[in-house]
Amino acid sequence: MQTDHKLIINGDSVTGDQGTFDVINPATLDVVAACPYASIAQLDVAVAAAEQAFKSWQHTPDAELKQALHRIADRIEANADALASIIVQEQGKPMFLAQMEVGGAVAWTRYTAELDIPVEVLEDSEHKRIELHRKPLGVVGSITPWNWPLMIAVWHIMPALRTGNTVVAKPSGLTPLNTLMLAEIINAEVPAGVMNVVTGEQGIGSAMTGHNTIRKIVFTGSTPTGQTIMRSAASNLKRLTLELGGNDAGIILPDADIDNIAETIFQTAFINMGQTCAALKRLYVHDSQYDALCQKLVAIAQAQTVGNGMDEGVTFGPVQNKAQFDLVCDLVDDARANGGRILCGGEPLKGKGYFYPPTIVADVTDGQRIVDEEQFGPVLPVIRYHEIDDAIARANACDVGLGGSVWSADIEQAQKIALQLECGTVWINGHAEVLPHAPFGGCKMSGFGVEFGQEGLLEYTVPQTLNINR
Ligand code: NAD
Repeated sequence: MQTDHKLIINGDSVTGDQGTFDVINPATLDVVAACPYASIAQLDVAVAAAEQAFKSWQHTPDAELKQALHRIADRIEANADALASIIVQEQGKPMFLAQMEVGGAVAWTRYTAELDIPVEVLEDSEHKRIELHRKPLGVVGSITPWNWPLMIAVWHIMPALRTGNTVVAKPSGLTPLNTLMLAEIINAEVPAGVMNVVTGEQGIGSAMTGHNTIRKIVFTGSTPTGQTIMRSAASNLKRLTLELGGNDAGIILPDADIDNIAETIFQTAFINMGQTCAALKRLYVHDSQYDALCQKLVAIAQAQTVGNGMDEGVTFGPVQNKAQFDLVCDLVDDARANGGRILCGGEPLKGKGYFYPPTIVADVTDGQRIVDEEQFGPVLPVIRYHEIDDAIARANACDVGLGGSVWSADIEQAQKIALQLECGTVWINGHAEVLPHAPFGGCKMSGFGVEFGQEGLLEYTVPQTLNINR
């Protein structure tokens, strides 16, 4: 595997026409590597190559597509150490999480390989047969964020390839290196032009969304960018899957066994330093358990080892970038200024790197920034409630709806409440768990479309009805 990072365009490893830009390690602020800076002209070449490759790739027999994905999974496994290491360096997460991310990439690739694309028979009578076929769309553009960069790239790319589409990927300029490696791995197993990757700081993403040869954009990122993409995609009525921001609420019912669930609550709120779209971001706790649960969460937060993800024993890394770090600082300062009690953390660590310790904020409520805004960082506001109906209403009083959760010893009661939450996935006694066979997506301004499972796979296809008069 090459260590000087290159674009992949039409099967070739190439340098960026606009030189390079630096990728920064958020733990040390050192330069990890120079990343190629592609021009719009190079994007056009990549899209043209993908369009050309689609002509034959779309006809690849299913069994061959499945085998190709398994071979890609083998190669990801064979390069697992290098991929995990580059993820830690450019993204900041602790090594065990990066290894989990690579493991997830392999598992998702293999699961996607085994999915089938059905032909549905709608009528089969004496004079007529009607079948519903699913055909690939053409060139799919993938635009990914910086939080789980390899995993999300795999979520976008594998179902696109499995269904016979070709791909142009654009990773976040903050964490592009692992996706360049992934593209190199995929490129070794598919014909030239099937898998392309272009990296750049600005402009490439918006050029993709307006590009008339790209048939679909699969985007994971913030809601404002999703809105911009939707406007731009109108140019040729691109298909869209938009996985956008959330502000997930979790409701702890009075009967919840907090001794048992405190650790899971903490982990699902602070996974990846809270930089996870479907992390628990607002915790509503019944008055009767409020102080006790706060205490338990503080104890778990204080037991974390914050540091460079490369170091042995580190459980909690830095925030990935300066803008996100500044947002976290602002939101906690705003909470403090408005009567919030900072139970632990609450100040950035001194020294180099974007380190902010896990922070629990009590005595805040709806209408305050820390509750209303997606913090996407290592902070959890804990909100007191008295009446369950009021907690449900507050959980739903929000423009976004990605995930939600209800925590209780009474599953039946929890289920009744769960089904009232306005979100794409609702967990009972859990949160933030995504699985390859369970469709995942948002409602309201968290986007539309789903990933994973059969439903997710079919989003990379267009239906064609075959109406046969015998
Ligand atoms: P972002 O929207 O700033 O950037 C995401 C990607 O879009 C990057 O590759 C970026 O370069 C690109 N981009 C920026 N402007 C663009 C434009 N005008 N046209 C096309 N592409 C453009 O998001 P981010 O800060 O990288 O990620 C954090 C956000 O992503 C959070 O809101 C988080 O909730 C969300 N997210 C959602 C999910 C999900 O599955 N719903 C998963 C992970 C992250």
